[in-house]
Amino acid sequence: MKRTPLIAGNWKMYKTGPEAVKTAQTLAGLCSDVQNVDIMIAPTNLSLPLVSRAVEDTNITTGAQNIYSESQGAFTGEVSAEMVRAAGAEYVIIGHSERRQYFGETDESVCKKIRAALRAGLKPVLCIGESLEERESEKTFLVLDKQVSDGLKGFVLDELDTLVLAYEPVWAIGTGKTADVNQVDEVHQHLRSLLKRLFSDKTAEQTRILYGGSVKPENVTELMGIEDVDGALVGGASLDADIFINIINF
Ligand code: PEP
Repeated sequence: MKRTPLIAGNWKMYKTGPEAVKTAQTLAGLCSDVQNVDIMIAPTNLSLPLVSRAVEDTNITTGAQNIYSESQGAFTGEVSAEMVRAAGAEYVIIGHSERRQYFGETDESVCKKIRAALRAGLKPVLCIGESLEERESEKTFLVLDKQVSDGLKGFVLDELDTLVLAYEPVWAIGTGKTADVNQVDEVHQHLRSLLKRLFSDKTAEQTRILYGGSVKPENVTELMGIEDVDGALVGGASLDADIFINIINF
């Protein structure tokens, strides 16, 4: 099965609404000829409707960086999957390591948010990854297996048709350090066989597995050359359209 690569930009807590729209418009101009690559940008929730409108009729889609699992209610400060979908998002990033690290996200809350995303028709991008300490103590696969199996607990096969998995070693996010080709290759192969074991051949074959962690124009070609790498989740290098386009054009 041929998987369309997905290059996704996580804009984190950067850019005001007008700044986000400007970058999105510049990027739309630069990537109008790009074919056979799905492009997604995830601005802040405040910018999401503005950016979604700005990229309507272009080949860029948008995503949110987080959602709450309930569809509505007395949950001050939260935003639901339905609200994000209505704002124009097609994707939602779930379980990013910064959310796990600073905001108490757990595999259990991740699982509820994936359910919420699917309920609202959003494509979930489930982020998983080990810390440096976990890698050095050879717990990488143990950690990833738990994040995947608990994050996707209780799902049946067909529900996961739109799932995207993002392997983001925590030690490579925003640090300038990238996992080397052998490390990425080994993990991505492992994740694909894990999906096969937990779900089905079909789920394993169709799920796009992105790599994230200091992806930049200088290393993207090598990373995208790895058989089981189906795209990239990019933080810092996605903030500037002139740089991000060179990643999209891997
Ligand atoms: C990220 O935020 O998901 C990420 C990978 O960040 P960076 O590319 O800056 O390491």
